[in-house]
Amino acid sequence: MAQRTRVGHYIGGEQEPGGERVGPVFNPATGEHTTDVALASADDVRRAVQVAADAFPGWRRTPLTKRADVMFRMRHLLTEHQDEIARIITSEHGKVVSDAAGEVARGLENVEFATGLMSHLKGDHSQQVASGVDVHQVRQPLGVVACITPFNFPAMVPLWMVGSAIAAGNTVVLKPSERDPSAALRLAELFTEAGLPPGVLNVVNGDKEAVDALLDDPTVQAVSFVGSTPVAASIYERAAATGKRVQALGGAKNHMVVMPDADLDSAADAAVSAAYGSAGERCMAVSVLVAVGEVADPLVERIADRVGRLRIGDGTDPASEMGPLITAHARERVASYVAGATDEGATVVVDGREQEIDGDGFFIGVSLVDQVKPGMKVYDDEIFGPVLSVVRVPSYDEAVALVNANDHANGVAVFTRDGKTAREFELDIEVGMVGVNVPIPVPVGAYSFGGWKRSLFGDTHVYGPESFDFYTRRKVVTTRWPDPSDSQINLGFPTH
Ligand code: NAD
Repeated sequence: MAQRTRVGHYIGGEQEPGGERVGPVFNPATGEHTTDVALASADDVRRAVQVAADAFPGWRRTPLTKRADVMFRMRHLLTEHQDEIARIITSEHGKVVSDAAGEVARGLENVEFATGLMSHLKGDHSQQVASGVDVHQVRQPLGVVACITPFNFPAMVPLWMVGSAIAAGNTVVLKPSERDPSAALRLAELFTEAGLPPGVLNVVNGDKEAVDALLDDPTVQAVSFVGSTPVAASIYERAAATGKRVQALGGAKNHMVVMPDADLDSAADAAVSAAYGSAGERCMAVSVLVAVGEVADPLVERIADRVGRLRIGDGTDPASEMGPLITAHARERVASYVAGATDEGATVVVDGREQEIDGDGFFIGVSLVDQVKPGMKVYDDEIFGPVLSVVRVPSYDEAVALVNANDHANGVAVFTRDGKTAREFELDIEVGMVGVNVPIPVPVGAYSFGGWKRSLFGDTHVYGPESFDFYTRRKVVTTRWPDPSDSQINLGFPTH
């Protein structure tokens, strides 16, 4: 057995081994405990926050052109190191390498957007708002920002946040998921190589203790969080209680509505890709297929036929289309939903538990569950695994009512060949990100990402233009250059 490696923190531009408390990191394809990740104490976190606070005055005064240079270089380094980062992701997360490379490419879009910081940070100016008086508004950074990220996109979600946060002049303490911490550390090293001064981006690894220390630290001005809904809700409350600005993105239950006029082969291909890609461990995975009218039987038949041909295996094998789940516990959890579905009255058409996959990895086959209804756990809970539920509804109106009644509202898609239906859907649906014949409508980097309802706590979406709103505060300056000879005392309230 190979020697276990150790992953620590990255503070002030230096790798640190961290203290005695550690957590296990596995290679999910082999089940092997490959790495120990240091779990930061509250003292470690306070020190990282102090380092970030010390770096802030210099970084906020760094000219915008120099900040943009760092982003351009980082964009280039991400392209150069795309395969290396993808392999790091696969070794700890399990997703197939091509999917991990796609994650790096999507994260790169956010750095690319940040290269345009010169325009994103522009202010406003109004001349002559009153006689001899001008007003202008500037955007200024907040200070130290905490970024707390989930396991399922260990490079992309950190890049959703840190590019814009530092481009706007903030300094950052990033706390990645303790399940797959190495990609974030590598990103921090690359930012240093791109010219980012020490202390501007720090990474502390850890668990709840580290997160709580960040939330309670009065120096931390803002918190960006992405993870599960219960944790997002608690982060939102705790961070807001100490007066911080907070955006907390939570979990999802994404529906794909298939109308009777849709092309069923394309819809089946899209459903299989979006439900089982990355083993369903995507916040934008389709987990519920809403079959409208008579499409249900032919669609279920087509999907069942396709899933039988999916190749599941080690993510480093180019032949694999789907890898393992993140942990043995995640696999047991997913299996329990499939086991319970029959008792709840659903029909398990394809049972992923029955599929034999070689080795000791955390693999499970894909499942297709038909005749699912709200009120069943398989429908109500976010399973976060390769399980696609089919809900049959008689009409468009019932499809919309079903989606709108769900408290998660991250993504949704409609498959139709009718423009009017698509337009109505866009108007009616109460979900933050909508796809029309696009199953995973993750916005490109020039737009912002975020769900509604219990998929996002706070009012600002992540990355894109809204991230520059989140990571800056506005200051309005009113200016007059009076002639001293006009000076007089006037106790009245100033009017124009
Ligand atoms: P998670 O909520 O368990 O963990 C997210 C982060 O919070 C990690 O850094 C973790 O260390 C920390 N954390 C966990 N429990 C905590 C606690 N009790 N107190 C404080 N911090 C805690 O999420 P996960 O399992 O890593 O990721 C999967 C979840 O993230 C899914 O629910 C998925 O839908 C969601 N997600 C959402 C989006 C989105 O954009 N809305 C994107 C990706 C993932």
